[in-house]
Amino acid sequence: MTKRALHWFRDDLRLADNPALTCAAEAEATVCVYILDEGSDRRPLGGASRWWLSRSLTALSEALDSKGGRLDILRGDPEKLLPALVESARIERVTWNRRYEAPSIALDTRLKEALSGAGVEVRSFNGSLLNEPWQVTTRTGTPMKVFTPYWRAARERGEPDAPLPAPKRLTALPLPDSIKGKICGLAELGLEPTNPDWAGGLRESWTPGEHGALARFDNFLDGALGGYAPGRDKPARDSTSRLSPHLRFGEISPRQIWHALGTARESGEAAGSATDAEKFLSEIGWREFSYHLLFHNPDLATRNYDSRFDAFPWNRDDDSLRRWQRGLTGIPLVDAGMRELWHTGWMHNRVRMVVASFLIKHLLLDWREGEAWFWDTLVDADPANNAASWQWVAGSGADAAPYFRIFNPVTQGETHDPQGAYIRRWIPELAGLSDGDIHQPWKASAAALREASVRIGETYPAPIVDLAFGRQRALDAFASIRNG
Ligand SMILES: Cc1cc2nc3c(=O)[nH]c(=O)nc-3n(C[C@H](O)[C@H](O)[C@H](O)COP(=O)(O)OP(=O)(O)OC[C@H]3O[C@@H](n4cnc5c(N)ncnc54)[C@H](O)[C@@H]3O)c2cc1C
Repeated sequence: MTKRALHWFRDDLRLADNPALTCAAEAEATVCVYILDEGSDRRPLGGASRWWLSRSLTALSEALDSKGGRLDILRGDPEKLLPALVESARIERVTWNRRYEAPSIALDTRLKEALSGAGVEVRSFNGSLLNEPWQVTTRTGTPMKVFTPYWRAARERGEPDAPLPAPKRLTALPLPDSIKGKICGLAELGLEPTNPDWAGGLRESWTPGEHGALARFDNFLDGALGGYAPGRDKPARDSTSRLSPHLRFGEISPRQIWHALGTARESGEAAGSATDAEKFLSEIGWREFSYHLLFHNPDLATRNYDSRFDAFPWNRDDDSLRRWQRGLTGIPLVDAGMRELWHTGWMHNRVRMVVASFLIKHLLLDWREGEAWFWDTLVDADPANNAASWQWVAGSGADAAPYFRIFNPVTQGETHDPQGAYIRRWIPELAGLSDGDIHQPWKASAAALREASVRIGETYPAPIVDLAFGRQRALDAFASIRNG
């Protein structure tokens, strides 16, 4: 039997259904380590993700303590730290769950080689996807480019394995003195903002960690899953699961979601119809598809999937970009979304599509500018989902919205937020306007504006772009690359 094992936590901050942790826990004693790696060529986490990580590590540490284990946190280059730790603690087995960004794959491959060369058993697992990105292919074995056949092929592979229970007990291996001095306290990592502390809205909105994830999921199964299919497009309602940051940090696995949903439906305990459940699972499918795309296109966050877009005549306009980031474009649905993002670290999917389309098409700003802002401000900023979704909206991605599909943010608001409840929540200065005026206050009569105490250009900005002009300019720009 293995005496001493080490589990390296990365994007799998949970105990249940954690195949690599389960494998490490078979040993007589286990080291559980998280390494904050800021110097390598992996993309640094954004501010909101750092906040989440800090809270999630706290929760993980408490959960490990309660099982007799211990979380040791290190900071630095895993390629140096892990082999040193393995050698000094005489570790025989190292385990981790796989990641899918190219620099992480390269790092893991080098580490596996080095550790195996030193006689250590290295075991890696799939802990975050229903299917590995290379397991779903076209009939000729090539990567998939379109979601519907991808998801059909993924489903045809059959039921995902049943999730694993959390290890019953862990025995923490005492660390040698040479390593003890390198262990960091969470506060030392400086992951949470202090001056200014902008995370108040995040604290109000979220409970990071495995317990928080499971509670949110249970809540969703009992409630918002009922009517999810039609309701998921209504940003004023709490009608989606809000599991995205929990999934991003691996506090819950898609296998757990899949099986718990199936069990709840069979026993009649889940709210909602078969259509609601299928729609929800297909969103998990979009996450899988995004990882498939990222694995096969490592530069997804920086390079156009469709290279015709390399010639696209993007605008450069820092003032408009700043106004978009701050929710001061003068277009209510766009500003409401950007303010929700700033306050809570999350934005409703429908509104994400609208604000992204507005940035790319009406302002003609490069999708990478928006992707980078989302990366910094979203608690669910995800290397696959964020990049794939931005390219999808831009029209440069796989199975993307066609270039001529330009969301009109006014009609989007009228359709999906007809009473303006979402806009009123995030832009209180417009709250007094009627349902008809709230989506385009610049068209309201002088009397209506006066009555609602709105002064365009003073209490709320005038639109930074004329929507019809912006739309035509985008169509012309897209035509230039289509023809050229
Ligand atoms: C411009 C843009 C950027 C985005 N950036 C991210 C991101 O960084 N991280 C992220 O997780 N999602 C991203 N999304 C996808 C989607 O908006 C969020 O996953 C969703 O809003 C999260 O809310 P939820 O958990 O309540 O979703 P639910 O509707 O409850 O869906 C359940 C889960 O399915 C997955 N999912 C849902 N929609 C999508 C989608 N379109 N693509 C991929 N996976 C999906 C998520 O993991 C989500 O938690 C982005 C979408 C757009 C348009």
